[in-house]
Amino acid sequence: MQLTEYMEAHGHEQLCVFTDTNVGLKAFIAIHDTTLGPALGGVRFWPHKTEDDALMDVLRLSKGMTYKSAAAGLDFGGGKALIVCSNDEKTEAMLRSFGKCVESLGGRYITTEDVGATTDDIEIISKETSHIAGLSLSLGGSGDPSEMTAYGIYEGMKACASEVWGHTSLRNRKVAVQGFGKVAYYLSKHLIQDDIKVIVADINSAAQARAKNMGLEVLNDADDIYNIECDIFAPCALGGIINDKTVPMLKCKIVAGSANNQLLEDKHASMLQNRGILYAPDYLINAGGVINISVEIGQEYSPNIAADRVAGIYEQIRLVIETSKQNSITTAAAADFIAEERINSVKSSKNI
Ligand code: NAD
Repeated sequence: MQLTEYMEAHGHEQLCVFTDTNVGLKAFIAIHDTTLGPALGGVRFWPHKTEDDALMDVLRLSKGMTYKSAAAGLDFGGGKALIVCSNDEKTEAMLRSFGKCVESLGGRYITTEDVGATTDDIEIISKETSHIAGLSLSLGGSGDPSEMTAYGIYEGMKACASEVWGHTSLRNRKVAVQGFGKVAYYLSKHLIQDDIKVIVADINSAAQARAKNMGLEVLNDADDIYNIECDIFAPCALGGIINDKTVPMLKCKIVAGSANNQLLEDKHASMLQNRGILYAPDYLINAGGVINISVEIGQEYSPNIAADRVAGIYEQIRLVIETSKQNSITTAAAADFIAEERINSVKSSKNI
């Protein structure tokens, strides 16, 4: 499929390509939908092998952001940025150059942190653009969103538990966590407090060491995570990991984690359902970060207000589960239904 055909089919408004050879910047910004407000979404640093891979990633991620904000009740659209580079290639000059790209869009896209980015990076980018959120607490921002994202995942897990086991307690359950980055670290703190056994897989030795230091079991081969007998599989690394190969391998009752675009294709939601596995739609259960950031935009940030709103993810996951049962659709389709209903109602009221 041609790029524009893909964008039309998925409702994308805009795709921007930026290069700055002086600083080695290759960046893409995808704006999916701005019906509800400016496109909000993080900037991801990842050394994609091909340009097609990078484009598909940024387009898919931006669409996920539209649905995430819509389902979470926020007045933002969906966007995402991708800088094609590895962590050790990141420089101040590159970050500032990216900031100018964001600024050039005049507020149609608001950037923040995603995989590979740090709060320090966000501070550097903010020297060149005001269309940014997730600044450090000392600069009046909401700081690293990972902690609130993790809190939302934990609340979402409890909502899933209430459906599967008839009560919200996760005590003594076993959770297999794929990826031990920022979100998984905070999530594990909640899980440990509930006496949950946490098994971790990560391809990065520093992340593995961090998990071991918390007393967690770490797999030698990260790919073994799909075979682990557990109650909950928590994908907290990258997308596309629920696919033809992995669904038959899973030995869990619930899939609930922070990674964006966990399902490689829509059909994988049905495959999970057919295997009796409850899937917590990724963009809804991981909305804690964006809810937290929304509390910073245009007002003074309050962690208590943010935490209260993030706790609402419990009810939103319950609503998705009920909608899926009432309409005999997957939980993924139910979340889309709730998000699309909101966007379409605003679109039609604007067209009157
Ligand atoms: P991170 O970069 O801090 O951590 C990701 C971890 O995954 C890294 O330790 C990395 O080594 C590991 N990893 C990569 N590929 C792997 C593989 N194949 N197997 C095992 N481990 C692997 O990222 P993060 O901020 O913790 O975010 C994790 C996921 O959650 C991402 O998909 C991100 O888009 C999503 N997310 C994050 C937030 C947030 O607030 N940080 C919010 C919403 C969604």
